[in-house]
Amino acid sequence: MEFRISNQMLVFPSPRKEMSLLNPKIKKAKIPSVLTIPLLQHRGQAAVPVVKPGDRVFAGTKIAEPAGAASVAVHASTSGTVKEIGEFPHPVLGRGTAIVIESDEKDTPDPAVGPRENTDLSFEEFLSAVRDAGITGMAGFGVPAHLRLETLKGKNPQAVILNGVESEPYLTSDYILMMENILEIVEAAKFFKRILRLPKICLAVGEDKLEVLEIVRSKLFSLSEDFLEVVCVPAHYPQGEESLLIRKILPGFRGDLQAGEVLVFNIATALAILEAIKFRKPLYERIVTVTGECLPEPKNLLVKIGTSFNDAIRNCKGFLRKPDRVLMGGPMSGVCVEDWNAPVIKGTQAIVALPPEDTKPRKVLPCIRCGLCLQACPVWINPCLIALAVETGNFDSLKAFHPERCVECGNCSYVCPSMRPMLQRVLEAKGLFPI
Ligand code: SF4
Ligand code: SF4
Repeated sequence: MEFRISNQMLVFPSPRKEMSLLNPKIKKAKIPSVLTIPLLQHRGQAAVPVVKPGDRVFAGTKIAEPAGAASVAVHASTSGTVKEIGEFPHPVLGRGTAIVIESDEKDTPDPAVGPRENTDLSFEEFLSAVRDAGITGMAGFGVPAHLRLETLKGKNPQAVILNGVESEPYLTSDYILMMENILEIVEAAKFFKRILRLPKICLAVGEDKLEVLEIVRSKLFSLSEDFLEVVCVPAHYPQGEESLLIRKILPGFRGDLQAGEVLVFNIATALAILEAIKFRKPLYERIVTVTGECLPEPKNLLVKIGTSFNDAIRNCKGFLRKPDRVLMGGPMSGVCVEDWNAPVIKGTQAIVALPPEDTKPRKVLPCIRCGLCLQACPVWINPCLIALAVETGNFDSLKAFHPERCVECGNCSYVCPSMRPMLQRVLEAKGLFPI
């Protein structure tokens, strides 16, 4: 990957999205015989099991109840029997408590999943339905969706932005979801506009996805709908990050991003919310881009939550050659997953298997004060000073460096010539400030 330096440095990782688009349709992944479903798949608190070994479950059966405000329900992703509850590999946490389900290979849906007669919900009913369906941000280790929606309570939100930019290299799951679900996206936008009483709803699409833009616009024209504004934004990384997107789409916005005036939902999350309201369908499966130079057949797969990385990769005919690293997410902001028995979780946008020539050496060198990380940071904080404060335990000074503003783009790690784990350090600093 190459990067280019200008006055205000922009990072240009090569997109490499074509690999997973050689198979231009979403394929259903084979349901594995055993699924490991973690109780914590987002920032916040883990859910509490409501099943025990031996219990019969179906696709969509609630297997764990939310515990605490920042917690959501967890559901079985296929039909079968609860085998055990214990500690298992976790793609983000290393290890975590999970419920193991042995599949009966029938994938029978839970009778509670089905069309909802009345979707004219009050705001409170809407929040509770979203939480009950276990919906979290579906890009990385996200925040429960009901918590973000709650910030709109009693406010006059200016806009909701449906984020289809997906500027991270390798990732195409949102692109393919948009191409195959244009009508559903229009319906989700309409639903958000109605239930949140929004003056404005936008769909943001990167300029590398002009075909999506054209299809949505022609669909809106044929439906005689004009409530959804489709906006084309630059596709360079990390334009898809929400604070940058808001600044681009609403240049006059001077409000507080945490104050419930504007919300950004990525496409997958918006569609999951629509399915939860319309069909009472909990979040138990998702589209995952399984890709990288080490795979013979990269694809976008519909994968049951709890499927191991190994099982997902088998759907792409296994490894062509041994990867140096397997990532959950893209190479800029994703996390390196050491144990490939770890399961796909709600935020697993992608599994990327990278060969040694595409990864940096693991040997970390001292900071040479080159300032590249500072120039590459899109929110103008100083990753170098934050990392040094963390490494020296100088936590009192951290507040002045505002690590909470970090948008987790990974630019600082990417440009650092000393291979320093900058993103990791900034995340450690950020973790000291509660969300
Ligand atoms: S500090 Fe955060 S926002 Fe800034 S470059 Fe690093 S990861 Fe990106
Ligand atoms: S890019 Fe790396 S070496 Fe350069 S200032 Fe930042 S941390 Fe130090």
